[in-house]
Amino acid sequence: MIRGSCLCGGVRYEISGPLSAVLNCHCSVCRKAHGSAFRSRGRVASKDFKWMQGEDLMTYFESSPGNRRGFCRVCGSPILTKFDNDGSVYSVPFGALDDDPGVQPQLHAYVASKAPWHAITDELPQYDELPPKA
Ligand SMILES: [Zn+2]
Ligand SMILES: [Zn+2]
Repeated sequence: MIRGSCLCGGVRYEISGPLSAVLNCHCSVCRKAHGSAFRSRGRVASKDFKWMQGEDLMTYFESSPGNRRGFCRVCGSPILTKFDNDGSVYSVPFGALDDDPGVQPQLHAYVASKAPWHAITDELPQYDELPPKA
């Protein structure tokens, strides 16, 4: 079981299944949404994601068509992204996890949009956009 929560503690969830497609996304939308150089995220089956409390505190912003980024309306922590075209999967930003998910980002995506003030200093593969199956 992997637990996650928002900054104010109002929203809590548990993940009971594997996280896949784990990567650091450097796209401008993730940078804005997270106020950071990149967003580390993984995908989880929606059936393996369970709200423990605070689902009513969630607000969703459609950052691109059909792509709904959910955050706590009290503290602003990004919690998950839902997709209109695929309800079976969520994208979860690792910054809100409280437990070690046991997996680490395997690549850098959207490096073509990378912040000019950030240098990637690891050896993970870099992709201008999203690689296949991520
Ligand atoms: Zn909160
Ligand atoms: Zn992104």
